[in-house]
Amino acid sequence: MSRLVSTPGLGILRNALTINVEDYFQAPALAAYFPREAWASTPCRVEQNVDRILDLLAGHGVVATFFVLGWVATRYPSLVQRIVDDGHELACHGYGHGHVSAMTPEAFRTEIVRTKTLLEDFSGRPVLGYRAPDFSIGAGSSWAYEVLAEAGYRYSSSVYPVGHGRHGMPGASRFPWRLPPGLAEIPPATVRWGGRNWPAGGGVWFRLMPYEMSRWQIARINRHDGRAVVFYFRPWEIDPEQPRVREAPPRVRLGQYFNLSRTEGRLRLLLEDFRWGRMDDVFRDIL
Ligand SMILES: [Zn+2]
Repeated sequence: MSRLVSTPGLGILRNALTINVEDYFQAPALAAYFPREAWASTPCRVEQNVDRILDLLAGHGVVATFFVLGWVATRYPSLVQRIVDDGHELACHGYGHGHVSAMTPEAFRTEIVRTKTLLEDFSGRPVLGYRAPDFSIGAGSSWAYEVLAEAGYRYSSSVYPVGHGRHGMPGASRFPWRLPPGLAEIPPATVRWGGRNWPAGGGVWFRLMPYEMSRWQIARINRHDGRAVVFYFRPWEIDPEQPRVREAPPRVRLGQYFNLSRTEGRLRLLLEDFRWGRMDDVFRDIL
């Protein structure tokens, strides 16, 4: 088997690196096995995994954007402080990882105001960014943008412009667009190829496909489209030691557990192959 080597200097643009800070038992696909009322008594691994990510980024001199769940921040306020102390952007991933498309506007408002307030209280920094759990702002929940703007958010990164099962908006723009009033949507990366959009923004696809595919996709977006990429991963994706739900169906186990032991090594290559920064810095022009 050939050994992967990085290709420094491949990237010509600076891209946005993002981390959705949630624990392994908060993945929607595992909701049947870890109901909300069981979270408080389930062993957490998010703190140690985020600390590993902070070390990894510091070792490469990279700053990123951390979209943190309110539930995690409440449990680990000192982790929130360590994230901002290292120069990273703090942003909101909702409170309890519920899908926006399943909420009422009132419930959504309560959740994003509560989480923004506690993240700002813990960090002493303004929180401008929001990412919906599972990219769950869709055609039927575009009311969420008005609520986000009213709550003082400046950008969202919540729409995946692909056909993506439960979520995804294949007709949405692949690149940032402005929304009234004073809000922008900055979607995760996609590649346009063969007449359709393909996911290129990380998550499960980054683990399922060979690393060379992700490298090709990001280089293509930087060079062919001349655009910055938004890439994301979750702390549990670098944790092969996490408790496994053996009774979950094969499709769920594939999405949750495939290549967990390879993800950190691939992230190291990604950090070396491309240039990275925070969302609020990379997309400063549109904000
Ligand atoms: Zn999430």
